[in-house]
Amino acid sequence: MRPLAELLLDWEAVIGLEVHVELTALKTKLLCGCRISRDDEPNANVCPVCLGLPGALPVPNEEAVRSIVMAGLATNCQIMSRSRFYRKHYFYPDMAKNYQTTQGPVAFCMHGQLDLEVAGDAAAERPDGSIAKAEDGSYVSPVRIQRIHLEEDAAKMVHLGGREGRIADASASLIDYNRCGTPLIELVTEPDLRTPAEARLFVERLRQTILALGISDCSLEGGSMRCDGNISLRRRGTTELGTKTELKNLNSLKSLHDALEFEIRRQAEVLEAGGEICQETRHFEPARRRTIVMRAKEAADDYRLFPDPDLAPFDLSEEFVEECRARMPELPGARRDRYVAELGLRRSDAELIAGVPATAALFDEAARLAGEGHAPMVANVVVNMVPGFEALSAAQVAGIANLLAEDAITFAQAREVLEVIDGTDEDPEGIVDARGMRQTTDASALEPHVDAVLARCEEQIRQYRAGKVQVIGYLVGQCMAEAGGSGNPKLFRQLLEAKLG
Ligand code: ADP
Ligand code: ZN
Ligand code: MG
Repeated sequence: MRPLAELLLDWEAVIGLEVHVELTALKTKLLCGCRISRDDEPNANVCPVCLGLPGALPVPNEEAVRSIVMAGLATNCQIMSRSRFYRKHYFYPDMAKNYQTTQGPVAFCMHGQLDLEVAGDAAAERPDGSIAKAEDGSYVSPVRIQRIHLEEDAAKMVHLGGREGRIADASASLIDYNRCGTPLIELVTEPDLRTPAEARLFVERLRQTILALGISDCSLEGGSMRCDGNISLRRRGTTELGTKTELKNLNSLKSLHDALEFEIRRQAEVLEAGGEICQETRHFEPARRRTIVMRAKEAADDYRLFPDPDLAPFDLSEEFVEECRARMPELPGARRDRYVAELGLRRSDAELIAGVPATAALFDEAARLAGEGHAPMVANVVVNMVPGFEALSAAQVAGIANLLAEDAITFAQAREVLEVIDGTDEDPEGIVDARGMRQTTDASALEPHVDAVLARCEEQIRQYRAGKVQVIGYLVGQCMAEAGGSGNPKLFRQLLEAKLG
């Protein structure tokens, strides 16, 4: 088989995503007052509305509308003042009404955009010159969002006795209507993504954004965030869209990436052999890292989509939208930019911290407690050290960052201290003092060690002067050893550089 990188010189992948997000932060269902809960007895949270009993009338959940408007504002969508619910008909026991309440051509949120910043390995996957790249290879990919609409989820079904819980050869099926009628938002992108890495990044960025809004717990594994990948190929340099397939069962970022990669290979193979791609829905099998046909794509008009006569159109006032805007927290992108501009963080650190609300909260508190100007070191500790430990407090993180910023300890020593204080309420300063770890930062005390090392390292001195400046690392190491580990490496380096001229 041809390597993927080579395939992608001939073929361009065109990818669009459909992402469903359960509004897990809401207390009640979309059209009735039933409680939303994941751990109640099956069929405990039902009523005439979500069971589709004749004559039952729905009432929309205002908080669900607020949530979707916030999601729309966060993704630069136009918030439509007038939209309404539609009925999408199908016959299946998971929806007692025999139709799903969803939205029609006009959704609450239309025509948005999320600008993806692609860097590092992800940037390397886009081999074409169709997008301007910075010197370091990173680039910004604008991903247009077609729409975000509000709809209800279906009931959960369990098929007994069949293979892998599939319905095909099951002996019986159980149904739990607790989930039936719970609110979902569905976001649909334009086919603007070009690589599996971009698709993955988009879902990551979207997930961070929605987490920050606090409207869902966005668990891909747990199913509160579900993603379908649409993908087609076309010859590089052409603009017409090819026939797409739709990929399902992508319940991790890795699955999304692997399924798209598999599909690029599969479609390229079919097309290169002169075949045609069938428009179909395919199921991803993570264990075998391949996709298999699930069903041919149904035509949209099979659903008999029409406006729901029981639900009046919405007229969202400007006031309502402004009220939603006022409730918006700082979003990850803005937070990252603020960390860079106001606290002097490295962009990559700022990006990692701003993306996870819990990490951002730890950082904010530690940066507040740490010394003036030490925020970049706090960020360094949060990104590079904290993940290896169980339970470090903001005060402990601030303490370690202060010690590092003041060159009182080395990074290796910082790790040692963190091992000791992890999960306790001890402060790092105390451990450092008790163990006599403080680095000597008095230059006159270090100078004799530097002189001793230089006296025996003629060869390295010659190399350094000949332009091989990286040998300084070796010399610093020698000085540290000479000082019995108590010297400050930065200061040793400065002394060495001064002496070597
Ligand atoms: P469908 O009629 O199958 O629902 P839509 O036009 O609603 O198709 O698009 C569904 C998703 O598929 C969107 O994310 C869209 O960007 C993407 N998409 C549409 N056409 C293509 C294509 N030719 N190749 C890849 N993705 C596509
Ligand atoms: Zn109900
Ligand atoms: Mg569609």
